[in-house]
Amino acid sequence: MADTVSKEKRSEIMSHVTGKETKPEIMVRKYLFARGLRYRKNVKQLPGTPDIVFPKYKTAVFVNGCFWHGHKGCKYSHLPSTNIEYWEKKIADNLERDERKTRELEKLGYRILIVWQCQLKPNIKIETLEALYHNIVNR
Ligand SMILES: [Zn+2]
Repeated sequence: MADTVSKEKRSEIMSHVTGKETKPEIMVRKYLFARGLRYRKNVKQLPGTPDIVFPKYKTAVFVNGCFWHGHKGCKYSHLPSTNIEYWEKKIADNLERDERKTRELEKLGYRILIVWQCQLKPNIKIETLEALYHNIVNR
């Protein structure tokens, strides 16, 4: 079978499977730490185990891979051309889970901020991180 999953997608998929931190996640944390924000990571006590939680601001940040979380209209979210039904179902399940955990977190009084992996490409990441910082502290 032809391998149509790009290297980037593959590492995104693998990190999801193994639960390991992804590079984008680490980048976001480092930036916010340098700006003086303190956080907890991979908080298992909260619905959906948010990647980064800012207790002081009651804010949960998810760093979402575009493929795995089906980023709408994003070129990085295109499904592989083989096994399309498998991937469609997989991504649809993920979207449902994302929605459910968002609702549960909101019920607990949390605000949810999403950073998409495509927003962390080198040419735009500073703007993205800057905006995220302001979003967090201006609650
Ligand atoms: Zn995207």
